[in-house]
Amino acid sequence: MKSIGLIFTTDYEIFGNGSGCVEKCMIEPTERMTTILENHGATLTLFVDVCEYWAFEKEFAKGNLKKDWAGMIRAQLQDLAKRGHDVQLHFHPQWLDYSFDGIRWTLNYDLWRIGKLKYEDLEFPDRGLKKLFGRGKKTLETIITPVKKDYSCHIFRAGAWSMQPEKDVLKALAENGFDIDSTVASGLAFQDDYTFYDFTNSPNEPYWKIEDSLNSISGNGKIKEVPIFTTKMSLPKKLKFLGLKKKRSIPMKPRGCVGASIATEGKGKLSKLAEVFAEKRKMFTFGDATSFEEMTYFAERAIQRAKSSKNGLFPVVAISHPKTFANEQELSNFLEWVAKNNKEIVFTNYNEI
Ligand SMILES: [Zn+2]
Repeated sequence: MKSIGLIFTTDYEIFGNGSGCVEKCMIEPTERMTTILENHGATLTLFVDVCEYWAFEKEFAKGNLKKDWAGMIRAQLQDLAKRGHDVQLHFHPQWLDYSFDGIRWTLNYDLWRIGKLKYEDLEFPDRGLKKLFGRGKKTLETIITPVKKDYSCHIFRAGAWSMQPEKDVLKALAENGFDIDSTVASGLAFQDDYTFYDFTNSPNEPYWKIEDSLNSISGNGKIKEVPIFTTKMSLPKKLKFLGLKKKRSIPMKPRGCVGASIATEGKGKLSKLAEVFAEKRKMFTFGDATSFEEMTYFAERAIQRAKSSKNGLFPVVAISHPKTFANEQELSNFLEWVAKNNKEIVFTNYNEI
């Protein structure tokens, strides 16, 4: 009897300040990630940041961007869709207002949180939520439908988990036919100068219906929230897993991928470490230099939770980013462990649950 349906997801993008390159931080690591998953009968759901895609497309057409990054992204997404992976929507709205000097992107961080955009924006119509979701959905459906006739873009995850205040975002999602959101990281909260999310009051359920709040169950809601799996982790466990990363020298970024997230830019190692220790819960990640042992810890915690829940198959969403995926061997070992030792886990995706 299977108790959890493991859903592998990745947020497909370069870094939030415009650093990084599409080949080394997206295309190549994504290919490695999907090949490993395929070898073990699993598929990947890619949450594609279309805001940066639009910028790459525009600047290449103008002759400012030397390589056709948008074309490379299109080719990879079509190839992956043909191979059975799913392609869904992600937004980093800071890309909706950028300048590009041929080398560096300058992005508008006032737009960082999608929750702060208006439902309709009269001054900047392209930044209005209703229009934005329509355009995002259309972009992905135009790319994928030629290779997969029954494809539909109907699932969303907000960039930097920063959807709150979410009322208008959820209205725009429902208006555009979206029926699943996968932004919530159960029980977690975070705030810095850019990012803001608070899921400390999220329901203790495998998934729930929402209407105008991510954290409250609504019987009439048209959208299902399928949260990212999180679990508590004791200090000794954190130290053990940190030690394994160090001992095996698992890199944080793929070879050749150079860039920094805006949140960690300029932060010292000590303050990053302090943040790790302050975290009350951890997201189930299979990137970020996560070891095989840590992945099995997440999976075992998920099975325990599923057993205490009355529902049937308990969906467990795991997250990663190609730009921080350099632990191929660890993921491979984890998938092998599932195949050999764990009859409780089945690999699945949002459309199957
Ligand atoms: Zn993202």
